[in-house]
Amino acid sequence: MKELRLRISLALLIPFLFLFQQADAFEKITIRINYANRPPSYLKALDLGGALYVSSNDFATHFSLPFAVSRERSKFEIRLPHHRLKMTAHNPFVVITEVATNVSSVYQVPTPVQFLDSLYYAPAHHFFELVERFSGVGVSWERESRTLSYSTTPPPPGPQFDITGIELEPRLNGYLLTVKANRKLNEYEALLKQNDGWLFVTIANANADTNAIKQFKTGPIVRQILTFQSPTSVQLTFRVGTDVARAEPLTEEGTNNLMIALHTRAEVEKEELERRKQELIRERLERERSRQKLDVIVIDAGHGGKDPGTIGVNKTREKDVTLAVALKLGALIEKSMKDVKVVYTRKNDRFVELYRRTQIANEADGKLFVSIHCNSTERKPSSANGFEIYLLRPGKTESATRIAERENSVIQLEEGYEDRYKELTEENFILVAMRQSAFVRYSERFAEIASETMANQLKIRNSGVKQAGFYVLVGASMPNVLVETGYLSNRNEERVLRSKDGQQKIAEALFEGIKHFKEMYDKALDETRSGS
Ligand SMILES: [Zn+2]
Repeated sequence: MKELRLRISLALLIPFLFLFQQADAFEKITIRINYANRPPSYLKALDLGGALYVSSNDFATHFSLPFAVSRERSKFEIRLPHHRLKMTAHNPFVVITEVATNVSSVYQVPTPVQFLDSLYYAPAHHFFELVERFSGVGVSWERESRTLSYSTTPPPPGPQFDITGIELEPRLNGYLLTVKANRKLNEYEALLKQNDGWLFVTIANANADTNAIKQFKTGPIVRQILTFQSPTSVQLTFRVGTDVARAEPLTEEGTNNLMIALHTRAEVEKEELERRKQELIRERLERERSRQKLDVIVIDAGHGGKDPGTIGVNKTREKDVTLAVALKLGALIEKSMKDVKVVYTRKNDRFVELYRRTQIANEADGKLFVSIHCNSTERKPSSANGFEIYLLRPGKTESATRIAERENSVIQLEEGYEDRYKELTEENFILVAMRQSAFVRYSERFAEIASETMANQLKIRNSGVKQAGFYVLVGASMPNVLVETGYLSNRNEERVLRSKDGQQKIAEALFEGIKHFKEMYDKALDETRSGS
């Protein structure tokens, strides 16, 4: 009992002795740190019987180095760029661990690490030697002057890591992998080894906060991250999901972060599909444009064979005039337009059904359909004269409707005409005309141009462009017009229409119109091409 009491009192006494000794022997002194152009600053230190100890906490704070304290295990850990430096109170062993490899080395300092007022103190000379060796920063310790010199620049304020974390976000077109960085990382490369699903990102002259990287929550896209820190570079190795087909580094202004687009297989396939679709559309448009070239002109000589057409005052048959004009016009086109093919609905005196005429034109892929006719009045002879150009529209005037009726009456000579044409009522003409709307504009332009050139060259009255529902124009998938070249019911015009010279002049006037129309058409086609 007595013995125990003595022990207790000794135990109680020891801390007081220790304190007494400390108060007597431990003297706080300062250490100067010299930066270029900066006033000296100070670190807490202890002089213990001539041996100098520096506060590790103070050192870490001063140099903005991360550190951790474990009170229960009496441990202090300081984080250097590539190493962890661990010390234990009252222990002379300092453990240095390389972060990248997790390889540790143990260094023995001559006297144990001290712990006082919640601060750890390491033997200054040996501590600075280790820091000098492992921090990679240019500190040098001068024992005599008790000065720690910072030869170049002070460490930058703020975090010490270049790479501070990893983020992954879904994007519309895949995923965005962000390597968060504190400064601009200029040298890096990203390589996806698709077969084994590894994405290697190598960043030169950088160090990574491995702890922060470990916070990344892995998932089906990024399954694992390995960080290899070497003295000169960081390699981030991502094990990516099998769905990742392509990794593409992105450049974005205004951020230091390094961004890599991860394209999934499905998305790459979708892109490829879209690309091929666009290509097909382009090809089709190009084909369509070349298809639209004014390369085939269909000339339709009205009537023929058992259908003479109208008969002139002096018995001139319409079918003969129309064929002669048609052949002369075709010859002119063939002679001067080498890129244009001429297709005739008939080249001799034979009967061709009206429906067959546009069928021939469509089969030949014609780009302009010109139907040639001669006009007439009910009462002959008459003074009515001049040419007229008709568009396929329901007849607007009574006379236009009458002329259409006369030209259309030829269907009665066709076998089975009732079935073939019975649908062609006035309303149906409107529908057919609407279906033709794509060609209507060009039909109108051609009619305008041709009526001008014909009026100029033939020096005859221009009756203008008219509209009527001509069966022959129904179903032509191209700009189309019907030209009434003149009146066979008019003695003077009949003379012109039956003469070779008159026919030639009419053909030349029509050809002039076609020439101007083609120039306008080709120009418009060029504009649609350059506009796309
Ligand atoms: Zn006719």
